[in-house]
Amino acid sequence: MKRLILLGATGSVGASALDLVARNPDRFAVEALTAGQDWRRLAELARAHRPAVAAIADEAALPALREALAGTGIATAAGAAALVEVASRPADLVLAAIVGAAGLPPVLAAVERGTPVALANKEALVCAGALMTAAAARSGAALLPVDSEHNAIFQVLEAKERVARITLTASGGPFRTRSLAEMARVTPEEAVRHPTWSMGAKISVDSATLMNKGLELIEAFHLFGLRPDQLGVLVHPQSLVHGLVEYVDGSVLAQLGPADMRVPIAHALAWPERIATPVERLCLATAGRLEFEAPDRARFPALALAEAALAEGGCRPCVLNAANEVAVAAFLDRCIGFTEIAALVEAVLAAQPRCAPASLAEVYAIDAEARARARQLVAGRRARSFAAHRQRR
Ligand code: NDP
Repeated sequence: MKRLILLGATGSVGASALDLVARNPDRFAVEALTAGQDWRRLAELARAHRPAVAAIADEAALPALREALAGTGIATAAGAAALVEVASRPADLVLAAIVGAAGLPPVLAAVERGTPVALANKEALVCAGALMTAAAARSGAALLPVDSEHNAIFQVLEAKERVARITLTASGGPFRTRSLAEMARVTPEEAVRHPTWSMGAKISVDSATLMNKGLELIEAFHLFGLRPDQLGVLVHPQSLVHGLVEYVDGSVLAQLGPADMRVPIAHALAWPERIATPVERLCLATAGRLEFEAPDRARFPALALAEAALAEGGCRPCVLNAANEVAVAAFLDRCIGFTEIAALVEAVLAAQPRCAPASLAEVYAIDAEARARARQLVAGRRARSFAAHRQRR
């Protein structure tokens, strides 16, 4: 029986993980569940899965959560520090499924404690990859990739000395064939409608800009310890081949599977064993064609920005991620257009000084500065478009 702590239980990855937990009551028990703000969903999940504790980041939601769980014997807690405490509880596995850099403190706490972490929260690794992998090396905590591409690589990876190159596949997102001019006009509703995967809003937008693949390259760099020039991206619209490892002898091993997150999540939860999942089986005869093409960095500049941040290292991935989080939120709030996401990230990267964070405090400071700069740019953009709107009237 594995005792699990699920960070970000109310999200898309959280839902898939809890579906697997419910199907395997003899294998998994839930120690703790966390959410950001959605106390109703958290209380529902806690009633269904009976954790020892349910914690929520939003402190204002604590009274409602406490009332919703009254009489259940489930402890409640709130605030960023409570999430860190929850992640530090004794457990066999922590699933890191919070979205964004907000997930970094609890994930790092679990890693420092030595608890194995099934990692979906790629932004935590992008912001503080060197600190996180150093902490994992000290504590012995395993980092098990949940991201489908990294999980694929993990499944086919031998000793890294034998590896020539790894390739992460990308569906290409909903705008794979659109021109830049067409992309300038797309709405948040279109951007979150992913052609092959069902995911939370932020990662769906990241998939549409290809920033997600850029973040994944940085994630792969930290997870697999290869050089940046050994990491590549291939667009594969069918999303059936998830990752490829080319070895020094010319052999290429790939992992295939249906585009259902329950496959990599099941692998990470059950590792080193495997559990059955209810997913639709992969049928290559029905799939018919598997297509591959090189990514177009001119139409998807976010990928090139992330690749440059990876090559430069130091604080650049953290700045890139912070600016991207603000830009995606501004796009979802209709404050900026789709193609302005990458433009805003590029402007923030150009404005922020280069440095190499040596501590978590420095990572937080870099993240905060980059967010402040990005918010200033969004506010300036709003002021300009408001003035233009008034002029037109
Ligand atoms: P969702 O938006 O669906 O869920 C995010 C989760 O994080 C929710 O539980 C949310 O709580 C919680 N949360 C949000 N903000 C905070 C905060 N400030 N503090 C604490 N908790 C917070 O995201 P996904 O499940 O899609 O993605 C989660 C992570 O997994 C991301 O890093 C993503 O890149 C990665 N990932 C996701 C995949 C997918 O298929 N969805 C695939 C591969 C990776 P609440 O509901 O209360 O807001």
